Amino acid sequence: MTDSKQGRGKTDGNPAAGKLCQRSPTDCHFREYNYILRLSKAERTLLDSYRAVLVAGTSGFAEVFYNYLFDNPAIAEVLYAYERDGGDVGLLARSELQHLLQCLEACNDGVREEQLLEAGRLHVARGFRQSWIIGAYDLLLEYLNTLLPTLDIPGPHAVELDSLLPRILLRDLGVTLEGYWEQTQEETQEELAYIAARLGEAEDMLSGVPHYMWSVDILKNTVIYANFPLQSLYGGKLESPFPGIEDTCVDDRQQLLTAWQNAVSGNTCQVEVRMSLADSETHWYRISLYPSINRQGRTRTVHCLLEDINHQINERIQLQQLATTDRLTGLPNRALWTDHLNMALAASRRAPGSSVVVISLDINQFKMYNDTLGHDVGDVLLRDVAERLNSIVRESDSLSRLGGDQFGILLQPVNNVREATERVITKVLDAFDIPFSHKDKQLCVSLTLGIACFPDDGVSEEILLTNAESAMQRAKRNGLPYQYFDPVNDVSSVQQLHYSGQMRVALENDEFELHYQPQVNLQTSQITGAEALLRWNHPGEGTVMPQRIIPVAEQLGMMTPITDWVLVTSLRQCRQWICNGSCIPVSVNVSARSFQNPRLPDKIKWALDEAGVSGDQLEIEITEATLMQDIDRATEIFARLSDLGVTIAIDDFGTGYSSLSYLKRLPIHTLKIDQSFVMDVAFDHQDIAIVRSIIELGHNLGYKVVAEGVENRMAWDLLVNLGCDTAQGFHISKPLPDERFCTLLAETGRLPG
Ligand code: C2E
Ligand code: MG
Ligand code: MG
Repeated sequence: MTDSKQGRGKTDGNPAAGKLCQRSPTDCHFREYNYILRLSKAERTLLDSYRAVLVAGTSGFAEVFYNYLFDNPAIAEVLYAYERDGGDVGLLARSELQHLLQCLEACNDGVREEQLLEAGRLHVARGFRQSWIIGAYDLLLEYLNTLLPTLDIPGPHAVELDSLLPRILLRDLGVTLEGYWEQTQEETQEELAYIAARLGEAEDMLSGVPHYMWSVDILKNTVIYANFPLQSLYGGKLESPFPGIEDTCVDDRQQLLTAWQNAVSGNTCQVEVRMSLADSETHWYRISLYPSINRQGRTRTVHCLLEDINHQINERIQLQQLATTDRLTGLPNRALWTDHLNMALAASRRAPGSSVVVISLDINQFKMYNDTLGHDVGDVLLRDVAERLNSIVRESDSLSRLGGDQFGILLQPVNNVREATERVITKVLDAFDIPFSHKDKQLCVSLTLGIACFPDDGVSEEILLTNAESAMQRAKRNGLPYQYFDPVNDVSSVQQLHYSGQMRVALENDEFELHYQPQVNLQTSQITGAEALLRWNHPGEGTVMPQRIIPVAEQLGMMTPITDWVLVTSLRQCRQWICNGSCIPVSVNVSARSFQNPRLPDKIKWALDEAGVSGDQLEIEITEATLMQDIDRATEIFARLSDLGVTIAIDDFGTGYSSLSYLKRLPIHTLKIDQSFVMDVAFDHQDIAIVRSIIELGHNLGYKVVAEGVENRMAWDLLVNLGCDTAQGFHISKPLPDERFCTLLAETGRLPG
């Protein structure tokens, strides 16, 4: 008998246990066996008279029996195990022998029967197999068969005994096996009672669980178990393998069916769906499906658990709302707005050419309202402002209270940025022309707005918001209703911090790159030069444009090494063009800070020598503003550059200072008309007038005039008519990486206008 069986039998306390040991008086095996085996009284009397002789003759059987026991490894193993458990093997073997031979002893039938049954039971308990017992009886029979002819028994009696002894042995064997059967039955019964008790407990427990549970036989597609709550819900009728599918909200059914298919394929699944069980109100339920897999790896059963999680979901929603909503105004708070902004940025990255606009709005004089009218009125005002803003912002755009009296508007990816932004700004400003009423007072409230756009003004949510705030602060300082972010005037400390470490290693890591934009002769359509324009291939942010690099680099003192790099790189490239057969100059922009560096001319000379190109292959572009910062110094530097043969261009001409006297004092070669006059020149009379004047001025002073920002054919034609010399702009080509620019040069000596 195994330990677990022993443990269970002893601890069970089940009234059914041990019942079969108490045999009924009618349960008499001997009588039946005597009858079946035709064991007559006369035969048994005959046995009595030869019993002593037979017993004496079997003394040698002990050795045969011991050999049988210990030569058979399986039996020997059981005996040794018995010994290991503290039993005495010798004693056990002797009692087995005695039990076997007792068929020859004079014994009351009832007592003998009980002994045999008990032996059978004990054999089960000790792990003796029935076949071994049969083997032992067979051995004894063979022994007696050999013994009988050697004994001094008269012939007829010997014949009778020869027939009787096998039947006596068969009877004993039979009754011993009855003992086996009774013991096995008893144990099975105990086992069943034990299982029934556990099942009852499990059922009690499952009925107490406030969830619905059921199991489905996959092959038969039927419910094979349903706990009490589920049975009560459906009145015991569980026709579908998925009770509740009909009660599931139509929108959620598909995910339930998908989960079911998944579970049938052997995967544990969980879904949350809305259901109105037995026509009750709709609640959220969590359905967990646990497949049970058979040995062949197929799902045999799926166990299902259905829990009402309405309360949890509602709490989750409430928590989410609390965490993402501004309590006072009910608008999304900064955290949620930041999420929206990040999503919009991701969408815009997937749609090249689109933009995201971040508008920071601040209530003017809010502190005054708060201090003079009290905080309650301040709160009402904030709510009113939120409501008014909400009424004008489209649903797809996102309005938030970012904190204090600051609000934020996020315009989802738009293609025509300026136009869309101006429309919103106008709507906001117009909406605040109407005063707010509080009690009997009229409160005139105005806002100041700052605007930053992705990707031009920043690529991260943090920088965009900081830049929009910087623009708003500048607007406040200048008393303006709104301002767009301007990298020169609004370089934020955050942006500096953001790039400070990275910019230093960017040069070493070769992250900077130059793109070249062709300059084309308006009469011949031939490429006559190229402007080198800086790009930063930022490892995390992609391409960073110069408007965002230059101001920060200036603040960080990084402009000098960057200018050096631009000079060397662009001149080497120019050398390459010459080698390829195109002798065109390159134009390099020099920032204010670099221009102030007294060593600039030396560096330019070194770079020209290093690249092996002459000075007339280089044009330096300086903005008017830079020039005017220190006109005396500019005069000196220009003289040295002229000595090297380097030409000078005034960049963004027309946007700087009004004094033009410097033009006649300095050795200038080129005027580059700022693109703001050129882009719409075909449609704007004032722009035409300005462009015409600049061309005339430049020509009168003997300069070449370049028009920047030529974006369309009409502008090109107009500039041809106005006699402008050179054009640069997207209509001709965008700035190109060096390889593509080389290809362009090789393919098109002439570019069509
Ligand atoms: P910029 O010197 O006036 O250069 C022309 C800018 O106008 C370039 O912008 C160019 O891509 C853009 N552009 C050219 N054609 C068109 C057009 O048809 N339409 C429009 N909308 N834009 C056009 P980018 O490359 O972003 O450079 C901006 C400014 O950054 C440059 O203005 C220049 O002032 C500065 N910059 C660029 N590279 C360098 C550099 O290596 N060093 C310094 N100090 N400044 C640089
Ligand atoms: Mg330029
Ligand atoms: Mg320019």
